[in-house]
Amino acid sequence: MSRGHIWLKAAGVMGVGVLLALVMLGCGGSKTTGEWPEKPGPKIVVSFAPLYCLAANVAGDDATVKNVMTTTGPHDFNPTADEVKLLSKADFFFIIGLGLDEDTAKKMKDGANNSNLKVVELGEKLPADKLCEGKCEHDHGHDGKHDHGKDPHIWLSPDHAILMVNVIRDELKAADPAHAAGYDARAADYIKKLAALKEDGLAQLKGKENKRLVSFHDSLAYFEQAYDLKVMGVLTQKPGEEPDEKQMKKLIRLCADEQHPIRVIAVEPQYSTSTSGATLKKELINRGVKDPVLVEIDPLETVRPDELTPDWYEKKMRANVKALADAMK
Ligand SMILES: [Zn+2]
Repeated sequence: MSRGHIWLKAAGVMGVGVLLALVMLGCGGSKTTGEWPEKPGPKIVVSFAPLYCLAANVAGDDATVKNVMTTTGPHDFNPTADEVKLLSKADFFFIIGLGLDEDTAKKMKDGANNSNLKVVELGEKLPADKLCEGKCEHDHGHDGKHDHGKDPHIWLSPDHAILMVNVIRDELKAADPAHAAGYDARAADYIKKLAALKEDGLAQLKGKENKRLVSFHDSLAYFEQAYDLKVMGVLTQKPGEEPDEKQMKKLIRLCADEQHPIRVIAVEPQYSTSTSGATLKKELINRGVKDPVLVEIDPLETVRPDELTPDWYEKKMRANVKALADAMK
C-alpha cells in the first residue's frame, strides 16, 4: 500500500481535522502557542536553540523548557505575540546577553507583564577571562547601538557550554530545591557528554597540519579556541551582506600566502545563496592555492523546529567538527 493510501485511510479513521492538526503540529509540536502544559516544576523559556539543549538536559522531567527563536536567529529576531505570551507564566528566561539577545529579551519581558520572571544572561555569569573580545566591525544588526565589548558566540565551545550548564543547574536548584539531586545528577551526566564532545573533536582534528580557515561571519572565536583551530579572516562583516571589493582582495591576499595558505572557507547553511565563499574559492584556485574547499559550518543560531531535541546541540557540533576534519589536511 502506498504512503498516500495509508494517509487516506488514517484520515478516514481519525477525521480530517485531527489529521490536519497532527500534520501542522509536526512531531516536535513546533509552533509556539504561548501555552504551557499542566505540569509542576519551573517553567523555563530560552532565547534560542543551543540554550534549549543545555536547559532541557538539566531540567529532565522536573521542569519544562520552551524555546523561542527557530528559523530566525538572535541577530535578526522579532518576537510574535504568542512568544511574548509564553513569558507571562514563565519562571526563567535564559539568554546569552553580551549584546546578542538582551534587547529582544527586554522587549519580551516588558510585553509579558510578569514580575516573577527571572531573566538570566548566561554570558554575563561567566568569568570575564573566559570571554573573547568582540571584533568591532561585527555589526549584529542593532543599528550600531550594540555593545562591542565581548564576543557573544560562547555556545560554540563545549567548555563554555559546560560553564552555562553549571549556571542553569544552580538557578534551577535554588528555585526548586526539592529536586536538587535530580538537577545535579543530570547536569553531571550532560557535562560528561559535553567534555566528550570536545575530546572527540580534538582527536579528529589531531595531526592536521593546516588548521587555518576563513569563517563566514565572525562567530567562531570560541569554537577556534576549543578545537585548537586558526580562524584567520572573516568573509562577511554582517551575515547577509557580501564583502566589498577591498575586503575580498584582502582575503585573497591572506589566503594565497605561499608559506601559510588557507584552503578552508567556512560557509553557513543559513546563507546558502551567498556567493562570496565560491568567489573566494575560485580566486584561490587562480592563484595556485592547492585544493581550496568550502565547508559548511552551522553557527547553531537557527533551528528547524521539528529538529530541536535535547541532543540537537551535540549532533550539530559533531557535524561541524566532522566537516572540518574531513576537509582539513
Ligand atoms: Zn552570530
